[in-house]
Amino acid sequence: MRNGLFGAIEGGGTKFVCAVGTPNGKILAETRFPTTTPDETLDRAVSFFQEQSTALGKLSGLGVACFGPLDPNPTSPTFGHILPTPKPGWTGTDVVGRLQAAFGIPIGFDTDVNGAALGEARWGAAQGLSTFLYFTIGTGIGGGAMVEGRLLHGLIHPEMGHVLLPHDIAQDPFPGVCPFHKDCFEGLASGPALEKRWGQRAETLPDDHPAWELEAHYIALAMEGFICAFSPERIILGGGVPQQPQLIPLVRSKTLALLANYIQAEEILENMDRYIVPPGLGSRAGIAGALALAQQALEEAQA
Ligand code: ADP
Ligand code: ZN
Repeated sequence: MRNGLFGAIEGGGTKFVCAVGTPNGKILAETRFPTTTPDETLDRAVSFFQEQSTALGKLSGLGVACFGPLDPNPTSPTFGHILPTPKPGWTGTDVVGRLQAAFGIPIGFDTDVNGAALGEARWGAAQGLSTFLYFTIGTGIGGGAMVEGRLLHGLIHPEMGHVLLPHDIAQDPFPGVCPFHKDCFEGLASGPALEKRWGQRAETLPDDHPAWELEAHYIALAMEGFICAFSPERIILGGGVPQQPQLIPLVRSKTLALLANYIQAEEILENMDRYIVPPGLGSRAGIAGALALAQQALEEAQA
């Protein structure tokens, strides 16, 4: 396919990244700005793409990988909207409608983590795989799933950061930070949970601090559950917290121990180093994923 240019939006809770790229994932122009009100934020995105289409050429599609919860179902009346969210002002925002009105081109819209999963499938650590999971562990925790070659949505979309994990209050009396569930996965293991539990930002905790054993324990509990539930061929751990270099190796060994030799797959028993991995695209997974969503939207519109 030789359709020239695509627009990509990585819509985060604190910042928006907008980019224009080519079908092989090359970014030609990029901007970033803080996430403020929906009006101001989406107006800035629209202006950027208008300027870039004048400078570089018309866009063939747009992809939006966004914080949620959101409605990614194209047949739903609220497709493209942000669903009820604690983020002030954003509940009910019609993100796709605003962009559609400005550009009138196919628009892909999905969760930030499903977008990143698609980016990793095309250009990153999940090339050639049909079933795998992508997690971000940062300000929040979210999981995206590619299942048999398609991004999983189901009823709305997965909320893998909000599963409940065994929480031994005697060992870890921290109550958790999730406003809905307190001690779900996100409540116990997100960046803000680390900061609140230990009284300092996660990136400032020393490598040998007990925080990392406990963090790896919670992530491994979640991985054990998701491996049993989805049978993924690989799991990618993105976001700020896994950038701590000692964390992923600890997660691998604890996950292996928790699985207790039950799943007899060479990929798990012998190749854990290649089974739980950081994103191949590093911190570019999000924006690359939005670009991939744009291409996918055009392909679906042309199918
Ligand atoms: P966001 O989730 O806002 O997109 P990040 O994925 O960078 O952004 O997540 C931010 C959180 O991750 C913060 O709580 C921060 O303390 C934590 N964090 C960022 N970098 C690191 C690091 N190198 N090691 C440990 N924690 C980190
Ligand atoms: Zn929760």
